[in-house]
Amino acid sequence: MIPGLYIHIPFCLSKCHYCNFYSETSLKDLSSYTQALVGEMALYKQHFKKFDTVYFGGGTPSILKAEEVADILRSIKHYFSLSDDSEITIEANPGDLHPEFLKSLRDEGVNRLNIGVQSFDDDILDFLGRRHSSRDAVHAIETTYNEGFTNTGLDLIYGIPGQNMKEWMETLAMAVSFKPEHISCYQLTIEANTQIGKRLGRGEITLPDEDLQYDFFMKTSESLEDEGYIHYEISNFARETKFISRHNSKYWNHTPYLGLGPSAHSFSGNTRWWNHASTDRYLDNIKKGKSPLEDTENLDIKSLRMEAFFLGLRTAKGINLQDFNNRFNYDLVAEKGDVLAKLEGSGLIEIADGHIVPTRSGFALADSLALI
Ligand code: SF4
Repeated sequence: MIPGLYIHIPFCLSKCHYCNFYSETSLKDLSSYTQALVGEMALYKQHFKKFDTVYFGGGTPSILKAEEVADILRSIKHYFSLSDDSEITIEANPGDLHPEFLKSLRDEGVNRLNIGVQSFDDDILDFLGRRHSSRDAVHAIETTYNEGFTNTGLDLIYGIPGQNMKEWMETLAMAVSFKPEHISCYQLTIEANTQIGKRLGRGEITLPDEDLQYDFFMKTSESLEDEGYIHYEISNFARETKFISRHNSKYWNHTPYLGLGPSAHSFSGNTRWWNHASTDRYLDNIKKGKSPLEDTENLDIKSLRMEAFFLGLRTAKGINLQDFNNRFNYDLVAEKGDVLAKLEGSGLIEIADGHIVPTRSGFALADSLALI
């Protein structure tokens, strides 16, 4: 299992109204930040040798100049090695995808783009506080394909206050019309400290009720499968198996990964660790040659087993019972037979050919599957 590398770019030009991710809207530290990332890489050169995926996430990684992306990739190759067939992804805001930028990214080896489209409805984009329009998104997707990218993902959000099924299906149909290699559909989740969260708290808006949320999910899955997409993880669809996100799959199958940058999480063996969610603190620590680590958690075998079960049921591959037994010395069917039978009877999972796999309803109710 070759580890993956996550690079967090914690800067955004403005804060979206639903966003609870760690990011800064001041760009004053952007230039020193890329140097600090290199400093953090140096701290890990003994622990990680090789990666086969690199994922620039954020924040807004497309805020970087192509030369900065190139510098970061060069430093990765200096401190570690990258497999020849590495998947190198960058998340991008539609407004940032200019032909020259895309050309340079491709020359530097970036071979996968994840575009934060979110919606093709301008009223919804406005409500979400996105800084691009539907037209920008269309233009960005067209430019991406014109510049020769052959593995592009579109991120979409549904379950927005006031949104009805027809509006969501229009956005989905528009996304499908570009035949992207990958589509992620996320249900809007709201934290109280966000702008939308505060409006919800004041009773100015309401979220779609549970039944409508369930219908959004089921209709999304059915429509995209009808279009030939593989629903391989709760929120993720790939046009062919080769377009399944190799990087994100590592999070779901306990492959080690290293996360660099403030708030980034890492995992290896039975240990998870994460950095402080503060760019100032990050820059200061790295300048002093110190680790920007906030905390570490060692998972015992029971926690790892629970996680493997929980994560397995979030993917269409499900859980291979023999592999599970080999890894944890735990016969799931013997130990949890009653609960599994109940879930199977409710149509949430299927147990066949030595696998437990979630059904579409099981995917929709994944959180309740994790309660066993
Ligand atoms: S672009 Fe992404 S990370 Fe930045 S504010 Fe918007 S949702 Fe948050």
